[in-house]
Amino acid sequence: MTNNHSKRQKIFGVVAIAFSVTACSIAPSKKEQLTTSKLHAAQTQQSQDTQSPAKLENLTFSVPAKYQGKTVYKGQPSNNEKVIALTIDDGPWQNTTVQILDILKENNVKATFFWVGQALQQHPELAKQEVAEGHAIGNHTWHHWYKRMDEATAKSEIERTADLMYKTTGVKTSLFRPPGGILNNGLADVAKSQKYAVVMWSQTSADTDPHAKYQVFVKNVLRDAKPGGIVLMHDGGGDRQRTVQALPQIISGLKQQGYRFVTVPELLKESGG
Ligand SMILES: [Zn+2]
Repeated sequence: MTNNHSKRQKIFGVVAIAFSVTACSIAPSKKEQLTTSKLHAAQTQQSQDTQSPAKLENLTFSVPAKYQGKTVYKGQPSNNEKVIALTIDDGPWQNTTVQILDILKENNVKATFFWVGQALQQHPELAKQEVAEGHAIGNHTWHHWYKRMDEATAKSEIERTADLMYKTTGVKTSLFRPPGGILNNGLADVAKSQKYAVVMWSQTSADTDPHAKYQVFVKNVLRDAKPGGIVLMHDGGGDRQRTVQALPQIISGLKQQGYRFVTVPELLKESGG
């Protein structure tokens, strides 16, 4: 696998890009308190299509009716159980995505990746690997624009990404994260009208801070951890080497605090009620 990975990285390095996204570093300005409730588990449907080796399998990351068209900041696990969801945005990305996947695998942690369509187009193999390794997937738009969009543009941002996600990996998702956490530029409205859950976060690693040392990311996450938390991190949109450095300590620190890692669909399911 290591050889494959490095070959892959070289290939993707060549294709990689003048694509520069601005990562989600804007804090949610307005907290909508959300109640979480039961989620039917991400339903796994075995592919009927044996002719298409490109698809690993058909997976649907769905949310229950109560969450459809709603904004979610955190889960509310029953008995305040210490579960937490790592969310990783803006990939798939050369080098860092593979490194993050390896760390997650070594620690038996499943995370939730929010893909940018443009990045997915450039790194389909990384996307397939994420799905194959059991992580949950959400839609993070095609261009990662922050600007105000008319409805047709916003729709295209979401649907183009969803289409490529399905064509590349067989995944359908009801998880949407707006770039920058911006809820009023037209994207979230379209996502809600299409019954996505708009998944925000309850705490951030602040790993888009260009000046902070990686230890600061570790400290941020460990300091703010709460049961049902949704943690914001990034594997793409820039140089994420410091996130890679921070991740093992984030995982071990949270484990020491007694946390168990879940995906966002699992978190909502375990939020019961
Ligand atoms: Zn982002």
